[in-house]
Amino acid sequence: MSSSPSHDTICLPITFINDLSKSNDLHETLTLISYWLPKIIESDRASVCLNNGSDETLEVFALCGNNAIEAHTVLPISNTMVGRVYSNKQLELNNNLAQSKELDCQILHKGGLNSCIDAPLQHSGTCVGTLNIGSFESDVYSPEDCAQLECIANWLANYIHAQMEITEQKKRAETDPLTKVNNRHCLNTVGNELLKRWETDQQPFSMIMIDIDHFKQLNDNYGHHVGDQVLVTFSQVINQVIRKSEHFMRIGGDEFIVLLEGNVELATKLAERIRVAIKDMAVQHNDDSLIITASCGVTSVQSQDNSLECLYNRADKALYQSKENGRNQTTAI
Ligand code: GH3
Ligand code: MG
Repeated sequence: MSSSPSHDTICLPITFINDLSKSNDLHETLTLISYWLPKIIESDRASVCLNNGSDETLEVFALCGNNAIEAHTVLPISNTMVGRVYSNKQLELNNNLAQSKELDCQILHKGGLNSCIDAPLQHSGTCVGTLNIGSFESDVYSPEDCAQLECIANWLANYIHAQMEITEQKKRAETDPLTKVNNRHCLNTVGNELLKRWETDQQPFSMIMIDIDHFKQLNDNYGHHVGDQVLVTFSQVINQVIRKSEHFMRIGGDEFIVLLEGNVELATKLAERIRVAIKDMAVQHNDDSLIITASCGVTSVQSQDNSLECLYNRADKALYQSKENGRNQTTAI
């Protein structure tokens, strides 16, 4: 009997494989990878860079060990070794970072590293990012290390790609396709979180309901596509007025909601800032400058509220009053 052919071997920790199989979140998957990688190929730093939607940059999505280039750093694709590996889809080894003129290598060297390998993460011929390891020692990585990292990158690219797809799908399911703001899914997720915090810590929160005035008339006069453009500009203006911690969503048609921490006075001030910003916004249509107004209804959580619906109904009632009293105004209940 002929002897079986010899195979190169990689030793993978069973916990890593197990945790990876169980992970159902992109961030968790990347954290696992950067945690286990230095244990598989001895290193002082491991990171995962992914394409972050731009053609010109990559972002450090996960990092373990030396943080010469920190997590969430956005790196240019041009004039970086990591960018070249990403573009050429070809692994590169640098065992003497002190000699490199490239931006990432220089930063890594300044941070104490002397060797590194970057491997492309490829799925169906597309590069989604890179797997990177680094060492304090120079001349430390061998061709075998490169072959191992390449093999691991090819294997992990499938997991990463699958998680990126799931993340993208989740985002799509929560995003309004026209205005790109959150849709009504967000109302329940964020609203119930705020309600829970109210029940445990008595942390007050408020709801602002916003509805465009005479929007149907605008559609009738100028056409649906102009109405769509108004909805897009309207959403952009509100996004500029609110803070990052405030949650803006399109509930449907021309109805929007902002959820925020804070009492009714704070929410009323924000509603007024939004209303004024909308009144001042000009949407150009041919030679016309269209003036849009909106009405707001504001309410805050109250002791008897046992569901989000209680707030929603009060905000709706307040909005109705704004409409009844002549529109382009804010009413708080
Ligand atoms: P009011 O001041 O009382 O709010 O009057 P209104 O005309 O705005 O009344 P309402 O809010 O009931 O009308 C909403 C209109 O929004 C009706 C519908 O044709 C239009 N609409 C809903 N979704 C869209 C959309 O995605 N694009 C456009 N262009 N119009 C939409
Ligand atoms: Mg309306």
